[in-house]
Amino acid sequence: MNNWGIPLEIETLVRSRDRKCVYCHIEFNKAGTGSGASWEHIINDIKITTAENIALCCRSCNSSKGAKSLRVWFSKDYCVKRNINESTVADIVRVHISKYGY
Ligand SMILES: [Zn+2]
Repeated sequence: MNNWGIPLEIETLVRSRDRKCVYCHIEFNKAGTGSGASWEHIINDIKITTAENIALCCRSCNSSKGAKSLRVWFSKDYCVKRNINESTVADIVRVHISKYGY
């Protein structure tokens, strides 16, 4: 497990899958402050460490989302301005939404 309690095999899978922020699609570390990769629990529960719930997003998105559900977060200015919503996010997030709602 890494420092965030994420099993190594999940970390490896997610790191190879999520090359860009799963929300705003910024390339990690290419665009300066806030673009570094950070671990995201799509459902904000650190006990759910499946590859479906763990993703990499940029620090800006992570701090904006915080503990909000996707539905609540998508309605905030941060997402509206950046056109982040259920149809623009990465496939992994869309699959998550279609399975579990948001
Ligand atoms: Zn982002």
